[in-house]
Amino acid sequence: MMDRLSNQDIYERIYGAISERKLQPGTKLSEERLATVFHVSRTRIREVLFRLSQELIVDLHPNRGAFIASPTRDDMRDVFQVRQALERGVVVHLCRTSPHPRVPALQAHLELEAQARARGDSQALAKLTGEFHLRLAEATGNRLFADNLRRLVALTGLIITQYGSQDGSVCTDHEHHDLVRAIEQGQPDEAARLMQVHLHHVEDGIKAMKEADADTDFEAIFGLKKPT
Ligand SMILES: [Zn+2]
Repeated sequence: MMDRLSNQDIYERIYGAISERKLQPGTKLSEERLATVFHVSRTRIREVLFRLSQELIVDLHPNRGAFIASPTRDDMRDVFQVRQALERGVVVHLCRTSPHPRVPALQAHLELEAQARARGDSQALAKLTGEFHLRLAEATGNRLFADNLRRLVALTGLIITQYGSQDGSVCTDHEHHDLVRAIEQGQPDEAARLMQVHLHHVEDGIKAMKEADADTDFEAIFGLKKPT
């Protein structure tokens, strides 16, 4: 299976690892090392890294190589300004169809969050709470909402890793529930207000965190075996 990984597969694995906060900001992405772990040519790794750099997820330095982006406090402000605009738009859009057909799927997602919270699985919870925002965007049926939000959620993950922990969740349980209820009841003004408050809470939660650091185990991160 390994040698059949497409560029898209590699891109998604790196993206997923960033979104799940398994890759630290500032981590060097050595072309040679990644070519070895993914069993592909360095040329293909370079193509993937270039694409990620265009999405602001990876910084490319002419002589030093590629690094996972290290968002600054200013970047965080920019990310949340855009998330505010985009995600309020998302929930207003969803409220226009009432009851929205994706409400049961959103409720099922909330149940998964509740289960992760109940068993104290903070890493799963961090992943699920980020995904909740993506599920909302996908429910609009507008790919541009979803594509843009995916990038913003990944950047948020990097920011949380930089200023917090690898498994910290900053989304509180009842706020996601309240959002789904407002969508279910078709209340656009209320949904927009709830989203605004929620994202402010998320941003404030991140600001309260301290910087973190950790070692990088690429094989474990990408679910691959160590070379023997
Ligand atoms: Zn949230």
